[in-house]
Amino acid sequence: MAASPMPQLPPPPPVPCTECRRIKDAFHAATREGNRTAAQGWIVTMGRHQRWMH
Ligand SMILES: [Zn+2]
Repeated sequence: MAASPMPQLPPPPPVPCTECRRIKDAFHAATREGNRTAAQGWIVTMGRHQRWMH
């Protein structure tokens, strides 16, 4: 039995949401500066955003 070839969809962009991008950028900036408190805060912010906006 021959399987019919399925069309391959291109992978979605890693972060399609601008708010996710903004939070990620801020998180990486805080991490780079060694600001662990701010980085933790951004992780919480991202968690809330993922929960309510996605
Ligand atoms: Zn988002």
